[in-house]
Amino acid sequence: MSRAVKTIGATMRAAPHAHLAVLFRSIDRYREFAEAQDRLDDSNAAGHYAAQAKRCAFAAPVPSPALRRALEWRDGAIAGASAGPGIASSASRRAAIDEAVDDLRQRMRRLTAHEAAHQVLFERGVHPEGGRCPAWLAEGLACCFETERSIGDFGPGFDVPSRRERLERAMHGERLRPLAALVASGSRPRGGTEECLDWYSHSWGIVDWLATERPQALADYLGSLAKTTPWRAAVRIGEFEKAFGPITELERAWLEHWRPRVDERRCATQARRPAARTAT
Ligand SMILES: [Zn+2]
Repeated sequence: MSRAVKTIGATMRAAPHAHLAVLFRSIDRYREFAEAQDRLDDSNAAGHYAAQAKRCAFAAPVPSPALRRALEWRDGAIAGASAGPGIASSASRRAAIDEAVDDLRQRMRRLTAHEAAHQVLFERGVHPEGGRCPAWLAEGLACCFETERSIGDFGPGFDVPSRRERLERAMHGERLRPLAALVASGSRPRGGTEECLDWYSHSWGIVDWLATERPQALADYLGSLAKTTPWRAAVRIGEFEKAFGPITELERAWLEHWRPRVDERRCATQARRPAARTAT
């Protein structure tokens, strides 16, 4: 992370203390703790970072009831493998279960990377505390560090497929709000909604682009946040334009950057006539 932060010209303080995370075996215990200690009001959450307590909290990955039933079936099938020939015919079902388990693991890795990024970026002074740091910037930066791999490069400039695909769909469906609305807003939409998922992807797309195309301006903007109190929307827009220039011009350049990809996607998903059958 420190290498990735350097590439955008921002500075990261040495760790003032160990970064703390609390892990729960049970999702119910985690949610009880999150509500009581951090007033987290998100019934879908499986992990979060609490800036006031300077710690993360996570629940162990929990399979859905359907996946749990499927795992029980698979374990039973493996235990009885020597008993009969029906096992081979269920190979495709077992492959689908393995895929669902992988998907669950990958979602947990992305979540862990996202919350750990919040923790390190805030506790090491890359951006100031929540009230001073716009929500879209804090979340966009954390999304930039989402990765499913424990080795290899990640951070601004590296693709985050889940966010990119969501952003492309939102652009294609003309669901994106204007950049000025994103920058003026003081908080994110309600968690778990479609609007919220679009908002995260929009924030990721803007921050990732600023980090690669306007790194110096982004570093200056991050530095300026500690000195202002951007409570009003007009102040938030003003500070943004001071760093990046007129917001409509910046938005145009950002859209230009994305347009070819969205057009490619449109071509790729166009219905094709089925190929003529030449062999049986
Ligand atoms: Zn976040």
